[in-house]
Amino acid sequence: MRIGIVGLGLIGGSLGLDLRSGYEVFGVSRQETTCQIALQRGAVARASINLDLLATVEIIFICTPLDAIVPTVKQLISYLSPETIITDVGSVKQPIVEECSRLWTNFVGGHPMAGTAEQGIEAAEKGLFVGKPYVLTKTLKTPYAALKKVEEIVKSLGSIMYYSSPEEHDRAVAWISHLPVIISAALIDACMQETDFTVLQLAQNLASSGFRDTSRVGSGNPELGVMMARYNRQALLRSLLQYRQSLDRLINKIEQKDWESLGDILQSTQAARKQFD
Ligand code: NAP
Repeated sequence: MRIGIVGLGLIGGSLGLDLRSGYEVFGVSRQETTCQIALQRGAVARASINLDLLATVEIIFICTPLDAIVPTVKQLISYLSPETIITDVGSVKQPIVEECSRLWTNFVGGHPMAGTAEQGIEAAEKGLFVGKPYVLTKTLKTPYAALKKVEEIVKSLGSIMYYSSPEEHDRAVAWISHLPVIISAALIDACMQETDFTVLQLAQNLASSGFRDTSRVGSGNPELGVMMARYNRQALLRSLLQYRQSLDRLINKIEQKDWESLGDILQSTQAARKQFD
């Protein structure tokens, strides 16, 4: 089977590195140099900056940044036969699945829950998806045969398959991926409001693993953070408002010196944390 990948970055390049062992892989990216590196690294058998390279492939993975997924599908469709399956890897699903399914019947939304802090083709890794969750979204419009084909390819990556509606996916990732980014950014922002410079400097010098763990995702790529908030605004706001309530409850226990209730809450969060491992 011949597979196409658009967007030869971390995710697209990593997909290519893995899929080449079982499939013929053609890649399209925006920059010629990226295409050259993808060829040198063995992520693709052929590469181009023109989408017409993908006219003969059976299935296309769109791995561009979120805001380029729908425009890419729009540009692609004039080159494709109706049997071609298009799937994407975007980390937000509802707005993308809705628009892409409207543009192309044979569309299946997907999201590999794998990544690193790096970006671009140089960051692509073989085996990135092994043992990691890969969500395929199902709607009333999703063609069964296309879903099965994407599933077969995803399974060959060694990923653990999950299915959900686009809306459930977006609410779930708001909790475990997007909310942590905003909370972590708020943590750094709050610390920086310390007005006593000596205290602030001491805190920065003393910061160790606890602070590193809780602030890490708040220091990621700002463009990606904004894109995630823009595309998953509703679900993220829902999670943030619940978070504010949880924070208020904790503040209240501390203000009231209600150490017993605070202890109870911390005991239940200690137990609940295991369910996210
Ligand atoms: P990335 O490393 O920046 O790769 C994206 C690549 O897309 C860039 O290298 C760029 O290639 C190319 N590109 C940009 N605009 C394009 C266009 N209009 N046409 C063709 N190629 C274009 O980003 P990524 O982390 O792989 O993320 C890609 C997608 O995966 C996003 O939709 C993201 O939501 C999703 N995702 C990311 C992660 C993660 O942890 N990073 C995890 C799961 C899903 P050039 O170098 O040629 O400009």
